Amino acid sequence: MEVRPRDTERQVRRRKSPLRQVADFAAASGVGQKAGVALAATGLALTVGLPATSPVMATSESGQTESALAVSGGSQPEVSAAASAKIDFSRAAVATAADPDGKLKQLLSAQSVGSIQRASSVGTLASPLDSLVTASPFGYRVSPLTGGTGDFHRGQDFVAQCGTAVHAAATGKVTFAGWHEYGGGNRVVVDHGNGLETTYNHLSSFNVKVGQTVTRGDTVALSGTTGASTGCHLHFEVQVNGEVVDPMGWL
Ligand SMILES: [Zn+2]
Repeated sequence: MEVRPRDTERQVRRRKSPLRQVADFAAASGVGQKAGVALAATGLALTVGLPATSPVMATSESGQTESALAVSGGSQPEVSAAASAKIDFSRAAVATAADPDGKLKQLLSAQSVGSIQRASSVGTLASPLDSLVTASPFGYRVSPLTGGTGDFHRGQDFVAQCGTAVHAAATGKVTFAGWHEYGGGNRVVVDHGNGLETTYNHLSSFNVKVGQTVTRGDTVALSGTTGASTGCHLHFEVQVNGEVVDPMGWL
């Protein structure tokens, strides 16, 4: 593997994270750091697509659900229900259809995975965490180790206290559940077929074994900070034909 994942990304980055920007703005504008962070967390979560299963959504009264869904925009699963309908926010109930994997299956069967554009793939994978807040994005960044540019971050880091349930992003088969030699620590890989795989890294423990079939939303592991990691978080990867791609193009 030519590029090793480095998750010691707690230091300097090329740009301030959105969280930091909003927090700074809030501090400067007198809103206060604490409120700013809460504000930023909300904005961030909406930006990356707060899953409808999150506690925030679950506690919404039915009257508020529509606006909440509208705010979060395109990354939301399509939920069709009358405004007055009582919406059950259990994981299965927010699926687009009877088969929660339907949209993904349809996409993968319609064209080769390598030719799929972001516009079609966004929203086809489910959130690997109940609450999805980015800690460090996919792609090139300043190396947290050397300070040099050109450090390639192979996945998306999400905020997760150690021991947080990590969910399969789609139905698939577990092809790896063990120690990753190149920094991933305890890692689970799920093969969704047609060249699409997801990986879950720095885990504290496994809930699955190699060869096991998992259903979208199943808890495959608990998050941790094993491997090249400086703190509890989930490093989540999406691979297309063996190459990592931006997970936010699929969530
Ligand atoms: Zn990472």
